[in-house]
Amino acid sequence: MKQLKISQLQRIFRRVAETIIENEPYLTEIDNIIGDGDHGTGMKRGFTALWKMLDRKVYTDVNCLCGEVGMELLKSMGGASGVIFCTLFFGGLDDIPHGEQVNLDQLAKYFEVGEAAIEKRGKAKPGQKTMLDALYPAVLSLKKAAAQHKDLGAAFGMAYEAALEGVEASKNMQSRVGRSKNFQEATIGYPDPGAISTSLIFKAFAQEIRLLEEMEEGHEKDYK
Ligand code: ADP
Ligand code: MG
Repeated sequence: MKQLKISQLQRIFRRVAETIIENEPYLTEIDNIIGDGDHGTGMKRGFTALWKMLDRKVYTDVNCLCGEVGMELLKSMGGASGVIFCTLFFGGLDDIPHGEQVNLDQLAKYFEVGEAAIEKRGKAKPGQKTMLDALYPAVLSLKKAAAQHKDLGAAFGMAYEAALEGVEASKNMQSRVGRSKNFQEATIGYPDPGAISTSLIFKAFAQEIRLLEEMEEGHEKDYK
């Protein structure tokens, strides 16, 4: 699969919302250990609002959908992660086309610019035990997949693997930004909750795109 239609992208975002909501207990558990414990509930609140928005509206423009995803998270979540996860979907908006389709090159650029916007906004870099430790490697692997002209399913599968490695790597980092920096060495050994959330976003993209690819292949077989 080389292109996503707007209806497919809307389905993917719905899957993202469901994945975050399902994982709230785990996010809460980790943020209770290394942060102030509110990451899971904040994410659940934001992604529940997002799910409802996606359920009641039908989008016809990819740029408009991505922009409204970011805005809904900002409105409903609050806190540091409200701004951060809004920026993930809003920061690269100038690089996402208007229209009914989007391809891997465009999505890779969109997340790349979104990642840079988060670094700028939060004055943080990868290596400081934040969601950037999952996002940065995921973006690199999307770019690599785009350069190799991979299918979308394979590309997001690679990005998810890279994000998971980032989550693993975040365990050995000491928190230097955000509220969990107050916990200093106590954060070592545990992954960053925002990095886990980021990996879940790429997981949902990968899983839903694979499903869409299987459905398309099934269709092709039906017509042969
Ligand atoms: P808060 O810090 O307001 O309690 P959350 O608990 O919801 O917000 O989110 C914490 C997560 O936000 C962290 O695990 C980290 O991944 C992310 N985070 C915090 N500050 C930054 C920052 N400056 N840049 C990138 N991510 C950050
Ligand atoms: Mg918190």
